[in-house]
Amino acid sequence: MSTSSPELRSASSSPVLEARQLTKTYRMGAVEVAALRGVDLDLDVGELVVLLGPSGSGKSTLLNLLGGLDTPSSGRVRFHGRDLTGAGERTLDRYRRKHVGFVFQFYNLIPSLTARENVALVTEIARAPMTPEEALDMVGLGRRLDHFPAQLSGGEQQRVAIARAIAKCPELLLCDEPTGALDRNTGIVVLEAILRVNRELDTTTALITHNAVIADVADRVLHFADGRIAESRLNPIRRAPTELVW
Ligand code: ADP
Ligand code: MG
Repeated sequence: MSTSSPELRSASSSPVLEARQLTKTYRMGAVEVAALRGVDLDLDVGELVVLLGPSGSGKSTLLNLLGGLDTPSSGRVRFHGRDLTGAGERTLDRYRRKHVGFVFQFYNLIPSLTARENVALVTEIARAPMTPEEALDMVGLGRRLDHFPAQLSGGEQQRVAIARAIAKCPELLLCDEPTGALDRNTGIVVLEAILRVNRELDTTTALITHNAVIADVADRVLHFADGRIAESRLNPIRRAPTELVW
């Protein structure tokens, strides 16, 4: 079991990411959906935050705004104090490519490329500090380098997706329901890979899940409801994924 003290960490460093009064309204013709209604959030270096809440409560919208995949209707996102809101597409593009790793529920691997080649696509573009082999080794797939996605299990494919996200050593790892399509045992292996990255690379991690049990691995748990953070609590002790019962 690993323990951590988010209070100590946050006292000693400024946040990696600050969201202030974020709102997001989607417009589809005459219909408006207020997906986020004023979210404030600081993410500290190396922190692992879990986002819980019912479907439609705004979790993915927030993650997309934090990762620069979309822009807020109002409010600000700052990365190391630097305002990303209205910074222009080039700055946002550099931010996404250099500093943010995304992992989604469905792995989005390229079927015609091997595990190594899927990761290499990113390491070449981002001039990553890790080789594809190192990144795949970190998620326990050092012996599956030349397998194609169709030859890998769901959990293995998700770990390739994690390797692809972390090979550039991003400061932020944003995971949207990474275990959503996986059974318990596979989900645990995937969570362990995410936790290892978080611990060994000090990657600040935000993880969305439907599964409240998973929240026990976090430093902090945010409960979303109706476009807002309804509750935020610190976990005194992080649980290891193998201790989770679901
Ligand atoms: P969650 O991830 O918590 O399930 P989302 O952030 O995906 O919630 O969605 C929040 C709300 O915004 C929902 O009502 C959803 O239907 C709506 N929404 C999300 N993305 C879009 C979009 N691209 N266009 C229109 N509405 C959207
Ligand atoms: Mg979602």
